[in-house]
Amino acid sequence: MRYFPIFLDLDGRDVLVAGGGEQATQKVRLLLKTSTCIWVIAECFAPELIALGVEGRIRLERRAFDAADVAGKVLVYAATGSETGNAPVIAAANAAGIPVNAVDEPQHSSFITPAIVDRNPVVVAIGTEGAAPVLAREIKARLEASLPASLGRLAEAARALRDRAALEIPDGILRRRFWERLLAGPFRAAALAGDLASSARAADTEFQSAAIEASPRGRISLIGCGPGDADLLTLKAQQRLQEADVLVVDRLVGEDVLDYARRDAERILVGKTPGGPSAGQDEINRILVREGLKGRRVARLKGGDPMIFGRAAEEMAAAQEAGIEVEVIPGVTAAHACAARIGMPVTLREKVRAFTVLTGATADGTLDHDWKALSRPGHAIAIYMGMASAGEVRARLIGAGASPKTPVVVVENGTRANERVVAADLGTLTEAIAAFGLNGPAIIFVGLDWDEAGLVRPAHVETYHPSPARWSSQQVAEATHWVMG
Ligand code: SAH
Repeated sequence: MRYFPIFLDLDGRDVLVAGGGEQATQKVRLLLKTSTCIWVIAECFAPELIALGVEGRIRLERRAFDAADVAGKVLVYAATGSETGNAPVIAAANAAGIPVNAVDEPQHSSFITPAIVDRNPVVVAIGTEGAAPVLAREIKARLEASLPASLGRLAEAARALRDRAALEIPDGILRRRFWERLLAGPFRAAALAGDLASSARAADTEFQSAAIEASPRGRISLIGCGPGDADLLTLKAQQRLQEADVLVVDRLVGEDVLDYARRDAERILVGKTPGGPSAGQDEINRILVREGLKGRRVARLKGGDPMIFGRAAEEMAAAQEAGIEVEVIPGVTAAHACAARIGMPVTLREKVRAFTVLTGATADGTLDHDWKALSRPGHAIAIYMGMASAGEVRARLIGAGASPKTPVVVVENGTRANERVVAADLGTLTEAIAAFGLNGPAIIFVGLDWDEAGLVRPAHVETYHPSPARWSSQQVAEATHWVMG
C-alpha cells in the first residue's frame, strides 16, 4: 500500500482549487459535499463556477495564480487543465508542505482522490492507487447498489445515541455488544425506514436489557481457518472473526485471514514457529480461559479444521472446566483442500472405499498404525505432519505388503501462493521430497491415482523421475555430452 487512506476533517478549513475550467468544476462539485471553504483562483471561470460564486457557495478570485495563494490552505488542487499551468501551483504547495493533487498528473500529486460512495455520514472510499480506475468504478457501482440509500439515516440515528450509551453502559465490551445488537435488530429496520418512533422504542428496549446485563459473558470459538487461502473461510468464521474481542492465533493461519477481524481486536500469537518461541498447549489453554473469564469473545484461530489434529479436545475441555461457553466453527481441513487442488477425489466408487487421515508425528515417536489394513488396495491415505517420518511410513507400508509402485502425491503449502505438488511412488517418496526440497507443511497422499479415476493430472503437478544415482562419472559425462550435443 503506497497511498494511505484517511478521512480529513475539512469543516471550516480552506481548500484551494487553481483553475476555472471543467477540471476545476469537477473538483469543486466533489468538495461541495463537504463544509469546507473553497477558494477558486483563475483568469476565467466556467459558468457553473460563476453561478456558485454568485450564490456565495465558493469564493472566486479572477486573476493569475500566485505562490502566496496556498498560504493557510489544508489542501490544494492544481486543476488548470495544463501541465505548465499546474507546475507553479504544485511547486508552491510542495514548498509549503501542503498536500497537492494535480489533476491527471499522479506523478506530481502527493494525494489522490478515491472513488466515493456517499451515504453521509457513511462514506466508502475506493482506490486502486491509479492502477485500474475502471475497477474502482465497478466496485463503486456494486456498493452503490448494495448499500441502502438511507444508510446515512441509520448512522445518524446511532450517533444520536452515542452519549447516552457511553453514560448508561460504561463497560466497553458490553457497550460494543449493545451496538451490535442494536444495529442488527429492529432498531436498524426502523431507522432505515425513517420511523423515528419505532426506532426510539427499539433503542429503549436494548438499553433496558443492557442495564440488567451485569457482566459480559465470555465465549471461546475454535475457528477452522482452512489451509491458507482466505477465500476458503466459512461465512460463520468471518462472522466470528468480526465479533471477536481477542484473537488467539496459530502459526498455520494465513495472514489474509486476520484481515477479517476487527482492527482493534487484541492479537495473541501462540503459533509454533520451527525453532522459534511457542506457547505450549497448557499455556494456550490458560490464555483461552483467562480471556474467556474476562467476558471477552475469544476467537481461537486454527489452521484447517479444529477437530482434525487440532488439539481441539484439550481446549474445549479447558473451557468446559472453567464454565465458559465454547463452540467449534468447522474449517476446510488440509487434506480436503489439497485433494481439491490436485483434482483428485479421496474416495472413488467401487475403487477407493476407505480414506484414512493419519499423523506422521506422535508424542513418543512410534508410528503404531494398523499398517496391514492401510496397505490394502482400495484404501487411500492422507498423512498429516508426515514429512519427517516419510521414510518410516514408506518402510512400514511396503513391509506390510503395499506395492512400491503405489502412487503418492505430496502437496506442500496447499492453496497458498507458494504451493507445490509433487507426484512420485511409494518406493521413491523420500527421494522425491529431498529432490524437490519440500520442507513446508504438506499432505502426503498415498493410493490416489488420476489414471485409475479416469481424470486428468493438473498441469502444475511436478513428477519425480528417479535420477540415475548409481551412474559412474564416466556415464554422466557421456550422457551430458549426448544431451548437449
Ligand atoms: N487442523 C489442521 C491440521 C493441523 S496439523 C487441518 O485440519 O488441516 C498440521 C499439519 O497440517 C501440517 O503438518 C500439514 O501436514 C497439514 N497442513 C496444514 N496446512 C497445510 C497446507 N496449506 N498444505 C498442506 N498441508 C497442510
